[in-house]
Amino acid sequence: MTKIAIIGGGPAGVMCAIFAAKNSENKVFIFDKNIILNTLLPTGGGRCNLANAIFDYKELAKNYPAGEKFLYSIFSKFATKETLDFFEQIGVKTYTQDDGRIFPTTNSSKDVKIALLEQINKQKNIKKIFENVLEIKKIDNLFELKTNKNSYQFDKIVISTGGRGTGQKLAKNLGHNIIELKPALSSLITKEQNFSSLSGLSLKKITAKVDIESKEKNKRYECLKKPVKGDFLFTHKGISGPIVYKISSYCAYLNFDKNNPLKISFNFVNKNFEQFDTEFLSELKTYPQKESVNILAEFLPKNLAIKIFEVLDINPTTKAGQLTKLDRQKISQKVTDFMILATGINKGEEIVTAGGVDLKEINPKTLESKLVSNLYFCGEVIDIDGLTGGFNLQNCWSGGYIAGISLQNN
Ligand SMILES: Cc1cc2nc3c(=O)[nH]c(=O)nc-3n(C[C@H](O)[C@H](O)[C@H](O)COP(=O)(O)OP(=O)(O)OC[C@H]3O[C@@H](n4cnc5c(N)ncnc54)[C@H](O)[C@@H]3O)c2cc1C
Repeated sequence: MTKIAIIGGGPAGVMCAIFAAKNSENKVFIFDKNIILNTLLPTGGGRCNLANAIFDYKELAKNYPAGEKFLYSIFSKFATKETLDFFEQIGVKTYTQDDGRIFPTTNSSKDVKIALLEQINKQKNIKKIFENVLEIKKIDNLFELKTNKNSYQFDKIVISTGGRGTGQKLAKNLGHNIIELKPALSSLITKEQNFSSLSGLSLKKITAKVDIESKEKNKRYECLKKPVKGDFLFTHKGISGPIVYKISSYCAYLNFDKNNPLKISFNFVNKNFEQFDTEFLSELKTYPQKESVNILAEFLPKNLAIKIFEVLDINPTTKAGQLTKLDRQKISQKVTDFMILATGINKGEEIVTAGGVDLKEINPKTLESKLVSNLYFCGEVIDIDGLTGGFNLQNCWSGGYIAGISLQNN
């Protein structure tokens, strides 16, 4: 009998436990300092966006600013199809939204939690221990584990404490390198510009360009050099939505603040200046008696049209036929190149943490440490982070499965 401790009962740890315990002599102990799988509850706004309908594993891996190549071997064995099959088998039916995001048909993350809990509760060789793991030491062939209450010995350990847990520290003490942790997938603050009058206003599938030079020529930087696409939202503190989450993820390791803001140019209409200006002029000519702000409101939500006139200090009631060429061009310029200065992120509200246990020190085929035998990792504790759309949970299901199967076979 092999005694295995899984530190962290989030989606990754629970998935790992299910497979590590299945048809094996293993005795699996899940340690959690809180309630198991509670981190699943707020996902997808309570609906649990558990995967994304990308079925080619290399295409799927493109959605990870960190970990793309590492995920190839993991996703080649367990990716979207296997995830959906797994959930179907445990009684969670799913559906795919138009944008590719996959949810349980009940739209309830609680139901996903219950189905997963049923799996661990029915396996007699899984035990839950509600203690905070403070220290792990390897002494000869055994791991000594200290919690806030007890000491234990185990043959094998899995660290699955998530992005914001203490697993990175535990791994560091066992000799692992930790890639600096940074919040990613967060909304951005625009302190110097006041968009509160636009709070709640959203725009579908717009594009943005970020004006930044970086010394680091990594994947995040490469993504920033191309236009970023997605839905957009003004909030009471700044800007949000999938396009902003992407930008925050690509900029996770860049320093920006009030004195050195991130300059993001949004194109609200997905047309270049010339195209938009021609169409705008045509509408202005067709309805010369209309107020010009109302003509602009044919292309944009009315409040945003008003804001653009306000920012440019142009009278919105100017009749369309009387709008000067210069003012019209200024408006067309603003609509296609609206500069927003982001001065920071909303700290503590990030969806995922970039950084974590260095991928170079983990075997992608098993998720076992290359430095410490019988030590495994899965989930967000590793230096893997995905974009929004179900990719972060996918990393947990896939990584949890691979670590679990490796433990089953050893
Ligand atoms: C608001 C929100 C919405 C999200 N929505 C989505 C979504 O819809 N789709 C998606 O793909 N991703 C989403 N994510 C991201 C996703 O939830 C995480 O990537 C995922 O939960 C990570 O899983 P994990 O198992 O690695 O770690 P976690 O879920 O963080 O679980 C780690 C567990 O370890 C425990 N723990 C930590 N340290 C210790 C310790 N020392 N001792 C004992 N226990 C410990 C914690 O209590 C916790 O239960 C969302 C995140 C947030 C914050």
